[in-house]
Amino acid sequence: MSNLPRPIVGRNKNLERTMNRLSSGQRAPLFGYVILILLYIAGNFATTTVVRMNGQINIGEYHMTYAQFAGVFSSITNICVIMLVVYYKRLGFITSLGLLAMQFPMLIINLFVQHNPNTVPGLFTNVFTIIAIFTLRINDIRTEKIRKHMAEQAVTDRLTGLPNRFACAEVLSELVKQGERFTLVSIDINNFKGINDTMGFDIGNKLLIEIGSRWKNIADSSVTGAPDFIARLNGDEFALVIRGYKTPDDIDRALEKYEAVLGERIFIDSYDLYVSASFGYAEFPTDADNIDNLFTYASAAMTEVKREHSSDHVMRFSSDLIKTEHTLMIEHKLRTALENDTIFFNLQPQFDMQHKLRGFEALARMKDEEGNIVSPGEFIPVAEKVGLVDKVDGTVFRKSAIFFGEILKSYGADITLSVNVSVRHLMKKDFVDEIRRVLEESGVSPKNLEIEITESIMIDSVDKALQVINEIEAMGIKIAIDDFGTGYSSLSYLNRFPADLLKIDKSFIDKMNSGDSPKQYVAAIIAIGHIMGFSVISEGVEEEAQIATLKEIGCDYIQGFVWGRPLPADQAEELVRQSVQA
Ligand code: C2E
Ligand code: MG
Ligand code: MG
Repeated sequence: MSNLPRPIVGRNKNLERTMNRLSSGQRAPLFGYVILILLYIAGNFATTTVVRMNGQINIGEYHMTYAQFAGVFSSITNICVIMLVVYYKRLGFITSLGLLAMQFPMLIINLFVQHNPNTVPGLFTNVFTIIAIFTLRINDIRTEKIRKHMAEQAVTDRLTGLPNRFACAEVLSELVKQGERFTLVSIDINNFKGINDTMGFDIGNKLLIEIGSRWKNIADSSVTGAPDFIARLNGDEFALVIRGYKTPDDIDRALEKYEAVLGERIFIDSYDLYVSASFGYAEFPTDADNIDNLFTYASAAMTEVKREHSSDHVMRFSSDLIKTEHTLMIEHKLRTALENDTIFFNLQPQFDMQHKLRGFEALARMKDEEGNIVSPGEFIPVAEKVGLVDKVDGTVFRKSAIFFGEILKSYGADITLSVNVSVRHLMKKDFVDEIRRVLEESGVSPKNLEIEITESIMIDSVDKALQVINEIEAMGIKIAIDDFGTGYSSLSYLNRFPADLLKIDKSFIDKMNSGDSPKQYVAAIIAIGHIMGFSVISEGVEEEAQIATLKEIGCDYIQGFVWGRPLPADQAEELVRQSVQA
């Protein structure tokens, strides 16, 4: 595709077309125009013919000469002329005027040379029709002007005089239709609210006008070889369309110009104002192939620029940014859930190979404001990223421990509560204190508690982690290594780790029965675990056939949908009751 811009079809023409569409009503079809002219000619011909005809027509008791019908045909011609003006505006007016003017010489000759008195009414009619079509035309011009002005207003931003959001959308849809490559830039003035609040709306408005006019000048100066299109969307939000560039560097260079004019002194009402703006952009069709996404992506990039507070004010959209938006949404839900205390727990049972209850793993659950459950696979990684995971862990730990303490007391069962702890949480300096407090509050004995840690801990900061883990271990609490096999821990690390339980990740169990090799792999993990003195539990067991294999290769425990899904507290309690009775 050639990068050379075509003659500006996308920009002003498009805007003009939009305005025209708004300013003029529906145009009448051309064939109507032709029919009116034909009717006019026929009417004229009939008029002159009947005038010359002798004889008369008898209708009932009335006797009429042919000449008397001239009036009828002549009014048809006049109606045609007026309809031409009404429906075909300027074209109709010129045509009508031409037609009427052509009649004048005939009428004059008839009257003054041939002294035909029958011509007098025709002459009068002709003059009055001309006056009528002039009046119509003048009226039309006036209403057209008003309509055009209203249409311009509809596509123009009142404050800055730049095209508005509507005009921008029209231009974009035209460019998309043409399939031409272009870039949409979303621009937002930094700290504009601050300026408005401290200096007043009046100065804020003048600032927007000044910035708009500076940017318009650059847009018209065709930095990239084609004029840019700048619009004000609302408030301090602008949109810029750049076309006709050859390389991504050209976009950067163009944007530098837009940034640079903000750096020049802005003097308003005896104040020197300093402003900057954030620029986010997305390219059609590379980043997005429709207008909605283009707007969303450009503005996501702009929002990210703002969020980062970096000195670089320009960013191109990348797919990571959508994740950021998603993350922000989950983060919001998470904070709300923590505030409203809607984080709760489910308990998934763990069994030995004889189907005897070993205990439960507490799994975090979260309800958002609409009452929908958000999966931990979604909110735990976000909680980790934004530093909230210790709050989530802590909530699940405390709530499940208190519940578990009651159960142990009521049923006298000797089962284990397993809780997940993230690296971040474990590294908190009061983590051990927190455990002590919860044990005290819930009355759970340390030997009935297990802390699940993922392998990644061993890679991140082994020594600090080991120190804490050793301390927990010394309290009599069990340690489980979660999702074993998914990380890349070495045997030597495992050896230093005072773990009690190895949890084989579901992905290995899923494949286990698909061949001898995956089965031997799981068997090897179990063997290594045993050699190191750990018990081994398989996660995500879904089928009876998997249980059979796991029994055969010496697995110690099972956790999976086959024998028990994560349960709400009351159902878990019922399971404990049954297990104690058995
Ligand atoms: P995990 O600790 O490995 O927990 C096991 C996950 O496997 C749970 O998913 C459980 O519902 C699921 N699962 C168990 N058996 C089966 C099965 O047979 N089939 C299938 N398809 N899935 C099974 P869940 O509850 O969605 O939790 C996902 C992960 O979120 C957990 O993996 C854990 O890493 C994390 N998580 C959950 N609760 C907490 C928490 O309180 N704190 C922290 N830090 N992480 C948590
Ligand atoms: Mg776990
Ligand atoms: Mg796991």
